[in-house]
Amino acid sequence: MPSRPSLLSGLFGLRCPRCRRGDLFPTGSFSFKQPFEQYEHCPKCAKDYFPEPGFYWGAMFLSYIGSGFFCLGFVMLLHWVFDLSLATSFVALITVGALLFVWWFRFSRALYFYMVTPYQKEFTEGVDAGTITAPTPKATSSH
Ligand SMILES: [Zn+2]
Repeated sequence: MPSRPSLLSGLFGLRCPRCRRGDLFPTGSFSFKQPFEQYEHCPKCAKDYFPEPGFYWGAMFLSYIGSGFFCLGFVMLLHWVFDLSLATSFVALITVGALLFVWWFRFSRALYFYMVTPYQKEFTEGVDAGTITAPTPKATSSH
């Protein structure tokens, strides 16, 4: 029997917070395909991924706070610790920001979703045992 997925493996794997088995997003974050598409529900346990209109508004604040501190820390590290010029530091920041942009958008949503959704081990067990199934979800970006 597969082991129970940990909080961190579920969160960083961008999986459903209830069963930690189903993907939140249809494509890989670094494939840069359909970057803002998200499944409408969990492909494994059918958890609704959009419980109410504007649900992921809160994720925007997490994203803003996290990216703000990341940008500050990244430029300060390059400029003060590694003694790069400010221009070089900002070019590096923009490069890293462009690479992490989709992942960060998705991770912020996942983090917010995990903050408000309790893990229910019965759903992991049901998915693993095949007693809980879900119809194939559509992907959407229009909520
Ligand atoms: Zn699920």
